Amino acid sequence: MEKLTLEDLLLKVEEYNPLEVEIVRKAYSYAENLHQGQFRQSGEPYISHPLNVAYILADMHADKDTICAGLLHDTLEDTEATKEDIAFEFNKETANLVDGVTKLAKMNFSSKEEQNFANTRKIITSITNDVRIVIIKLADRLHNMRTLEFKSEFKQKENAMETMDIFVPLAYYIGAYRIKSELEDLSLKYLYPEKYKRIEEIKTKIEMDSNHCLEEMLKTINDLLKCQNIPHEIKVRTKNIYGIYKRLEQGHKIYDIHDLLSLKIMVDNIANCYQTLGLIHSKYHPINDKFKDYIYNPKTNMYRSLHTTVFGEDERLVQTQIRTFDMDKVASFGLTAYWDIEKGNARNVMQEDLKNKYQFFKSLIEINRIFADNQEFVHQVKAELFTDKIYVYTPKGDIVELPKGATVIDYAYKIHTDLGNTLVDAIVNDKREPVDYVLKNKDRVRVITDTMSYGPRNEWIDKVQTTKARRKIIEFNKK
Ligand code: MN
Repeated sequence: MEKLTLEDLLLKVEEYNPLEVEIVRKAYSYAENLHQGQFRQSGEPYISHPLNVAYILADMHADKDTICAGLLHDTLEDTEATKEDIAFEFNKETANLVDGVTKLAKMNFSSKEEQNFANTRKIITSITNDVRIVIIKLADRLHNMRTLEFKSEFKQKENAMETMDIFVPLAYYIGAYRIKSELEDLSLKYLYPEKYKRIEEIKTKIEMDSNHCLEEMLKTINDLLKCQNIPHEIKVRTKNIYGIYKRLEQGHKIYDIHDLLSLKIMVDNIANCYQTLGLIHSKYHPINDKFKDYIYNPKTNMYRSLHTTVFGEDERLVQTQIRTFDMDKVASFGLTAYWDIEKGNARNVMQEDLKNKYQFFKSLIEINRIFADNQEFVHQVKAELFTDKIYVYTPKGDIVELPKGATVIDYAYKIHTDLGNTLVDAIVNDKREPVDYVLKNKDRVRVITDTMSYGPRNEWIDKVQTTKARRKIIEFNKK
């Protein structure tokens, strides 16, 4: 990659926010001055790191305080500057962001172990104060992963593991898919270099071999949409290397991966998404059970799109993803898409949405409240949130996210305390099942309650996965 310059950053910011270029320029000079004489392991002047971090943020159309904080993010830790200096030179918001990012890295505990757990906890919970702190941290991690080649092999593996453990799930939960897939690929590259190389080669070959098929389909769909006067844009995408790696590990054959090749079709409104779907099905046979409506059943990280895998040209399976332009921003950037969609009010909308719409958030608050010990906190977050998840339906068709292994009891408490406390059993799909029934993906669950019921027994504690259910059972039995 070409070396990034200040001009690149300013041009990027100017694209979406021309009025605030000057403050970004000032933050750069300020940081450059402070980091004078410091160097990266690559031999480059240190400022190249914050500059790259700021550029990743500008690419997401971050607000100016976030970009400035990206430029200044290492000044409190590595230079003479103080939080008050930054507040004075810039503003309080920027100073708080930089301070937040710094605190993540700068905890002082006696043992290395304890420090690690405390630090991990800080990273995870900072999402509850201001999600922008985590986003800056993600950008910081992404650039460090991109430049990992200059570290020792031990450090490379250690960083890659930590990235998979903490940063990939965080990126997934806020829906930042672009960052998530790049972090996954970079981690794989350092954890299993040979496997990575092999799949990278396969991927390049697939892209060459599928070129004709995808070009043909792109042209056909383009013409169909033009005929109907539907404003649109189409992009080609191949699954990321880590995604392919995971499928192959599960025993799939490469060309049977149904979403290996995708066409992303963006249109102007929801009605046209469905019309586009019809047009595609009229031309290419769909695989019925690979059709997904994430527009009216969004993923729990707010991803929305129609997915349909069809029998494409040259006997290849091709997935098409159909969505509006705004949905596409959310699909790439998740919560951070609000920077672009909401402009000035983005920061508040992000924090509000996180509280109300993202299911993992309530679980996170619950775990944070219950577990005083840092090690136990980190362990529980990994077991309950950063783990394989299942998605089940309420009788109304809402989707509920639960950790794998969750039972009807977990489900009842996730919906409402009263449901858990009066739970008798449940109807799962069309069968009566006991309270300790382990739920599976796509189950439809209707709980049966009785206000005269016995209430949650103490033995139920061993039959739940979630912190909330466990706490509610304990509280009930104390009374
Ligand atoms: Mn940094």
